Amino acid sequence: MKTKKFVLATVAAGSMLALAACAPSSDSGSGGGDGGLIGVAMPTKSSERWIQDGNAVKAALEEQGYSVDLQYAEDDIPTQVSQIENMITKGAEALIIASIDGTTLSEVLQTAADSDIPVIAYDRLIKGSENVDYYATFDNFLVGQQQAWTVLNGLGLTDLEGNALDGAPEGPFNIELFAGSLDDNNAFFFWDGAMDVLQPLIDDGTLVVKSGQTEIEQAATLRWDGETAQSRMEDLLTANYSDGSKVDAVLSPYDGISRGIISALTDAGYTVGDEWPIISGQDAEVDSVKAILSGEQYATIFKDTRELAKVAAGMAVAILNGEEPEVNDTETYDNDVKVVPSYLLAPVPVVKDNVESALVDTGYWTAEELGL
Ligand code: BGC
Repeated sequence: MKTKKFVLATVAAGSMLALAACAPSSDSGSGGGDGGLIGVAMPTKSSERWIQDGNAVKAALEEQGYSVDLQYAEDDIPTQVSQIENMITKGAEALIIASIDGTTLSEVLQTAADSDIPVIAYDRLIKGSENVDYYATFDNFLVGQQQAWTVLNGLGLTDLEGNALDGAPEGPFNIELFAGSLDDNNAFFFWDGAMDVLQPLIDDGTLVVKSGQTEIEQAATLRWDGETAQSRMEDLLTANYSDGSKVDAVLSPYDGISRGIISALTDAGYTVGDEWPIISGQDAEVDSVKAILSGEQYATIFKDTRELAKVAAGMAVAILNGEEPEVNDTETYDNDVKVVPSYLLAPVPVVKDNVESALVDTGYWTAEELGL
């Protein structure tokens, strides 16, 4: 049913194109295209990655002749809902949405569906709605595993793919665990992936969680907020490490959280060097890559937002052309109403040794930006 209307939309877009050809060029939305308007809703500008994502999606769509209404909601749910409503009112032909809280969009997505506007969930799964057509993301379980492997690698236990290293130390190592925001489905995938790797080592005593906080609810960080993580880390240090013992590693699911953890450690008197813990991360944010180069953070997980943007934009354009977007996973991402057909990209662990090959040679950051 939808496909029919999409074809109609394409025809309409085609005639708009013809009209546009006779008219002086005018931009609708923020782009310069004549292929119709696509709404792109991003969660917040407070994290670098979403700025990269937004710009890359916009560029990819504009390249295909579409105009783009790109909005950031500063992590405020009602703001995101009203931004999406506005996009629909302005006549958006498709929506690409990175949600703040994956469960809060059902109503506005029903409005979109009523107008046959296809919806692509971007990076974060939109839950509890049948009106999500496709999902573009990374292999989020693998991200979690990689985060844990980087921690084990920093401790000298495994390589970056989790293979045991010869002559590895026996431990035990003290580790504390952080998770992301519980309203973001990804937080569970990262956690499950990481615990899949770490739990056996906790069970056999190689890793010790002195705080005993091994449940995601205890480790969670609302809205992935660095300051929230900092104060939890301060509490963990005071409550569990005032006896002179040291924390050897911290599982962190996101660079902004890692920076909060680093501040808490520094305030508690830790200095980079022998007793500085191994800390993981995610997103390859500039400040955190610099922290990797200076030894404050051990690793991050690089997710090439340019590639994700291309996949998501490609999905929207394919649907509007009456074609089926390419997917490579039709089993993993159940949003409680349906399994959303997905395209998963591969994440890349980054430690000091491969900063240059993973991030500079690929053009993601320049050597200058990283202070190299
Ligand atoms: C994304 C991560 C990001 C986190 C915080 C998650 O949904 O997948 O890349 O670090 O949100 O913004």
